Amino acid sequence: MLANPPFWKRKTLDEMSRAEWESLCDGCGRCCLHKLRHEDDNTLSFTNVACRLLDHQTCQCSKYANRRRYVPDCVQLTPEALHEIDWLPPSCGYRRVAEGRDLAWWHPLVSGDPETVHTAGVSVRGRAISEKVAGALEEHIVDWPGRNARGRRPAPLSPAPLSPAPLSPAPHCPPRMCRPARRIVEP
Ligand code: SF4
Ligand code: SF4
Repeated sequence: MLANPPFWKRKTLDEMSRAEWESLCDGCGRCCLHKLRHEDDNTLSFTNVACRLLDHQTCQCSKYANRRRYVPDCVQLTPEALHEIDWLPPSCGYRRVAEGRDLAWWHPLVSGDPETVHTAGVSVRGRAISEKVAGALEEHIVDWPGRNARGRRPAPLSPAPLSPAPLSPAPHCPPRMCRPARRIVEP
């Protein structure tokens, strides 16, 4: 065991500071995809259709501060809300910590780089379609947001350097606003 484990291993969600809580978001954008709940058995289907406010390159909300003016049912994630929500993707940092799992290697808090969630192929970059052009959600049901993402690790650099580069401090990962999850859309 680490002598000084990171905050997400030693604190409960309720004990985290605001900045710590916000930094649990990996910036994947998966929660901004529409979901369908099946009325017969209450199960969920994920789609690749993104909220109209999602920036598909950064995978961030393009109007975060005023988003509820445009998307009134955008949900704010809180420790309390996590107990009620069953639609966060399994890869989500909040869900992983709530379930007692560690953050993945591509999480910015682990990698020190906010781009790894994209380069690992975990974010929605390049594989979501805006609700503004998607049409019927039923035609966009996909399973990848509901799977536990493992992430593509980058290939090792080649050729290897003759002498190791001097060590430098890991880049500081700025606190993020937690991304509210998208509303559930009934079919
Ligand atoms: S709240 Fe979870 S699913 Fe949404 S962007 Fe952050 S880590 Fe991804
Ligand atoms: S945070 Fe809410 S309003 Fe913004 S893109 Fe995601 S679902 Fe849409």
